[in-house]
Amino acid sequence: MSLLVQKFGGSSVANLDRIRNVANKIKKFKMQGDDLIIVLSAMSGETDRLLNLAKDIDQFPNQREMDVLLSTGEQVTVALLSMMLNSMGIKAKSYTGAQVGIITNDVHTKAKIERVQEDKVRKDLEDGYVVVVAGFQGVTAGGEITTLGRGGSDTTAVALAAQFKADECQIYTDVDGVYTTDPRIEKKARKLDTITFEEMLELASLGSKVLQIRSVELAGKYNVPLRVLSSLMDEPGEGTLITFEEKEHYVESEIITGIALNRDETQITVLGVPDRPGIAFNILDAVGKENIDVDMIVQNISQDETTDFTFTVNAPDYDRALLITQNVANDMGAKEVLGRTDIAKLSVVGVGMRTNSGVASRMFHALAKEKINIHMISTSEIKVSVIIESKYAELAVRVLHEEFSLHLSH
Ligand code: ASP
Ligand code: MG
Repeated sequence: MSLLVQKFGGSSVANLDRIRNVANKIKKFKMQGDDLIIVLSAMSGETDRLLNLAKDIDQFPNQREMDVLLSTGEQVTVALLSMMLNSMGIKAKSYTGAQVGIITNDVHTKAKIERVQEDKVRKDLEDGYVVVVAGFQGVTAGGEITTLGRGGSDTTAVALAAQFKADECQIYTDVDGVYTTDPRIEKKARKLDTITFEEMLELASLGSKVLQIRSVELAGKYNVPLRVLSSLMDEPGEGTLITFEEKEHYVESEIITGIALNRDETQITVLGVPDRPGIAFNILDAVGKENIDVDMIVQNISQDETTDFTFTVNAPDYDRALLITQNVANDMGAKEVLGRTDIAKLSVVGVGMRTNSGVASRMFHALAKEKINIHMISTSEIKVSVIIESKYAELAVRVLHEEFSLHLSH
C-alpha cells in the first residue's frame, strides 16, 4: 500500500467523459489499497477563457480579482470528479486550495506556497476518502485567494507530496513522458525513461511545458520522486522518472538530453542609453519590482558614449514590461525603446555537456548551415540557449535533433 499524489492536467478533465476516465483510473488504485491525494487542473482552455474575459474589461486587470476569477476553473473540476467518484461508490471529498489550507504569500497571480496544513487531509485519508484538491491555488494568511502562476497545479501536487511524504508524485498529462523534444515538431522525438532533476529543471525553465518549473524545483528540494505519465492511455507504462542519479558514461549520442523551444519569449531593447554605471540596475530593478522575471540580458559595447540594452521577458509580461521600460528609458534620456514578440528561445540541454566540449559551436554551425540567424546567446554548465526569429523555430528544432542524434536510443 502506498500514498500517491496524482495530478491530472486540463486535457485529462476536459469533459465528463474524460473525468469518468480519470475516476476509473483512481478506482483501480483505490482497489489496490493505495491512499490517494488527487490534484486537478481546470478543464483545458478554461484558464485562458477566464483570462480573456478579464482582458476584455481591462488590459491590466486587478491582480487580486484575477485570482478570485482564475481559481474558479479548478473548483469546477474537483467538485465534478468528486461527484463522479462518489457515484461509482468511491468515497471522495473535494477541496479548494483555501479549504484544505495551502497557505501562500500574497503575490497575486504568482504566489508561492509557504506551508500546507495537514489535519483535514490526514483525517480524510484515515477515514478512507480519496482527497481531491484544486490545483494552482492557495490562500494567504489573511484569507485572500491566490494562484500559483500558469501550470501551477504541478506545484500543488509536489507540495502535497512533499508535505505528506508520498511514495510518488505522479503527473498524468496528455503526453506519455518527457521527450527529447516536442513530438509535434519532430516526429523522431524519443521518450526518455529517466531524466535528471537538473536537466528537467533546465527544460522546464526553457519552455518545455511538461512540468511547471517550480514543481521541479520543489521536488528537487524535498526529494519527491516525480513521474510523468499519460492520462489518456489505458496502460500508461512507466512514463518518465525524474531521478537524482546521473548515468556515468556518455556515448556520442548522449551529450544532449533534450531540446526545448520557448515561443513565449519576447524581447525589449533600449537604444541609445547614456553609458554610465547603474543603467542595467535601473532598468531591471523597475521591471523586477513588478514581479516580472527577466531572462536573457545583453548589453552592447558602447560606442559614442551610449549603449543598447536588450533583455527578454515572458510573453504574458510583455505589455507591462514594455510600459515600465519606456518610463525608465525616458527618465534616463535613452533614445528609443523597441519591442519584439516574433522571437523564440531554443535551447539544448544535457548533463553530458560537462564532459564534452564543443556543443555550442556544433549548435551554431548547424543553425548557420540553415541560414538561421542568432540574436542572443546564453550558456550554463548544462545548456546552451539562443534567441532566433520564431518563424525558424521548428526548423531549428529539427536541425538540432538531427545534429545531436537524439532519435537514437541509448
Ligand atoms: N489551470 C491553470 C493553467 O492553465 C493551472 C494548471 O493547469 O496547472 O495554467
Ligand atoms: Mg501543465
